[in-house]
Amino acid sequence: MAGLATAGALSRAGWQVILLERGERVAASPTALVLWSNGRRALESLDPDGGWSAIAAPLPDGGVRRPDGQWLVPPRARNGASAQPATDGAENPSPSGAGPAPAVVHLQDLYDALVAGLSDRVEIRTGCTVTTVRTSARNRPVVEVGRTPIEADLVVAADGIDSPVRRAFAPESVAVGSGFAAWQAVIPAYRVPRLSPEEAAGGETLGAGYRFVSIPLGERAAGRGGVYWVATAAGAPRPESPATQLALLRRWFADWHPPVAALIEATHPEDLVPQEVRELRPLPRSYGFRSGPGGVVLLGDAAHAMPHHLGQGACLAFEDAATLRSLAADAAPGEALVAAIDEYSRLRRPRTTSVVRQTRRMSAVVQARGRLALRARDAALNHMRPRILGGHAMGSGDWMPPE
Ligand SMILES: Cc1cc2nc3c(=O)[nH]c(=O)nc-3n(C[C@H](O)[C@H](O)[C@H](O)COP(=O)(O)OP(=O)(O)OC[C@H]3O[C@@H](n4cnc5c(N)ncnc54)[C@H](O)[C@@H]3O)c2cc1C
Repeated sequence: MAGLATAGALSRAGWQVILLERGERVAASPTALVLWSNGRRALESLDPDGGWSAIAAPLPDGGVRRPDGQWLVPPRARNGASAQPATDGAENPSPSGAGPAPAVVHLQDLYDALVAGLSDRVEIRTGCTVTTVRTSARNRPVVEVGRTPIEADLVVAADGIDSPVRRAFAPESVAVGSGFAAWQAVIPAYRVPRLSPEEAAGGETLGAGYRFVSIPLGERAAGRGGVYWVATAAGAPRPESPATQLALLRRWFADWHPPVAALIEATHPEDLVPQEVRELRPLPRSYGFRSGPGGVVLLGDAAHAMPHHLGQGACLAFEDAATLRSLAADAAPGEALVAAIDEYSRLRRPRTTSVVRQTRRMSAVVQARGRLALRARDAALNHMRPRILGGHAMGSGDWMPPE
């Protein structure tokens, strides 16, 4: 999605873009994504005509509970504001008052919107696996795809956590397991069990080493609706089939408060997207590398993959794309483009480092086990609320693309 967003933005600014994808298709997995204020603002700045509000459902504040149902952090509705998703197309205000309200979007809708935003200056080549990129002091960078070299002024490596381009330019940064496994699923609307209004608002539940988040997709998810959920468990990813993993999830979450068990029960094995949670350690020292009159930049998970606890990975990828577009759109190859590449790295490194640091603190919260650790966690949760539910502690609402 980071590659699509960047290709669309640069092509609309007049660049001729070749988008290389190793898969046979450019396709989304059947899950959803939370777009915090910063992610929404980045998308709006990348493509003001993208129709983002039409595909994004406002994110209700369902609060945080313990598995027995006791509130750790009650939803804001208790303080007088609405915790229900808006169904009439109205936007709930951002809880911090800064930036567009957080929203949830079905990935298929997001991909469709990003693909629709590609201009005819983008050539998509699928089934193309990039092996590396060659740079030199005098010449433009050259992308190696099998035996076919492709020369370009600017190479945007948005090739995810296992990026071969990052391995070549930032070998100090290695993808490692974060100590968690995660499962995502979207239950289609017709299969969602009957839920009380409070249950339908979704929310987050924290157990000892386990976490369950459910979010209603609202009516905006083009014909899909339904409920998105993500479960996290401390430990290694499971090797079993999706059906067996689903059976395990049903067992682990069996006695959690309603509607957790009912939602997992309504999930089919083919809905389930299991993932090992991984991150980059350390982050690359730089996100930009010169080559003659141009160079290479790392973007999205290729630059800063992190655990999903704050739901910021894709939001930061869109920030990267919007920053690069602002800096490079009008930069001619030569001094201007090289300066834009340096500036991109200078702006994005500290921003992503600070979010990664906060994500690691959240990892400790999710991993907490044992009576004392859990008691300390529960006591601290009120102070951590913005990190868990709003992403505002990292100033996400205030983020602006550079002029
Ligand atoms: C459980 C979970 C929940 C999450 N929830 C959220 C959330 O709510 N909000 C949020 O903002 N983020 C969330 N994230 C993070 C988000 O999913 C990632 O940050 C995002 O997908 C990164 O996008 P990307 O485009 O950088 O990389 P990817 O999605 O990994 O895309 C990389 C692309 O490059 C292609 N590719 C790879 N190697 C090559 C090659 N050698 N040659 C050619 N093509 C190649 C791949 O096929 C792929 O299409 C979550 C992550 C997880 C695991």
